[in-house]
Amino acid sequence: MVKPWPISTQPMSLQASAIAALFVVPVLVALVWARVVLGIGGGGAGHVPAYVARVALPDGKAQIDLPPVLGPADASRPLVVIDAGHGGHDPGASGEGTLREKQLTLALALALRDALLAQGHVRVALTRSDDRFLALEERSGIARRLHADVFLSIHADSAPSADAGGATVYTLSDRGSDAMADALARRENRADTVNGVALAGQSGAVNAILVDLSRREMRNRSIRLADLILREGDGTMRFHVDPRREAAFVVLKSLDLPSALMEAGYVSNAGDARAMTDKGWRNRFAKAVADAIAIFLAEQESRPVGAG
Ligand SMILES: [Zn+2]
Repeated sequence: MVKPWPISTQPMSLQASAIAALFVVPVLVALVWARVVLGIGGGGAGHVPAYVARVALPDGKAQIDLPPVLGPADASRPLVVIDAGHGGHDPGASGEGTLREKQLTLALALALRDALLAQGHVRVALTRSDDRFLALEERSGIARRLHADVFLSIHADSAPSADAGGATVYTLSDRGSDAMADALARRENRADTVNGVALAGQSGAVNAILVDLSRREMRNRSIRLADLILREGDGTMRFHVDPRREAAFVVLKSLDLPSALMEAGYVSNAGDARAMTDKGWRNRFAKAVADAIAIFLAEQESRPVGAG
């Protein structure tokens, strides 16, 4: 037997209160609404505040403006984001006299932009086109937010030995391929501690297997991009004796797209510095890298993601 609900065990006064509340609450709501929306009731002008204090709370998610996308208006064309390393209060490595890495990276990035636009097939955006500071995460963030197809960060190296020279193309790895690559990654990554940006990995809640597969896919494609840069640059630019390496660059870390970081040469090497400050050399460099990117994109188009 099922015991019936004790409907009539409530004292009459409680039921009456409940019914009263059903009518009183809407009336109160209506009064408040009338006062707020229609301005009925209340004390009139006497209650109008003399001033309103507004405190701007710091917005932790404030994003920088996106740079313009150049080239064909067709949004289905591949987008290459070129990142000129350093800038603003972060000069990067220093060479002879007033030579600073941040000037070379910008000049090289602009030359590459022009070479890619001259091809007429791809869209191009620069993380910076003037002497300004950008945090590393802002650089990769621009590529992500623009849904870039390729990200290339351009730098110039330096070494205690003036003999060290030649270009190197780095792709991302969890561990650098050698101690020198680690040291370089540490130096290039330091720009963010200046700005106090938290660099902690954020993949904790994401499915680890999917992340791993995606990372492996992107690693392979990035290595292919690096190999093509070496191939197309052969004969045009001088490469380091160990020209393709992997290192843990923060600027590449959060990118789920083919990406590489290129050290175009050593500012500490007289020959490299002379080349990088020469407009003609920069244009040849740009043509070779632009050709490599074009070949890479053509390959990707004919071979869908996940095809190995
Ligand atoms: Zn650098």
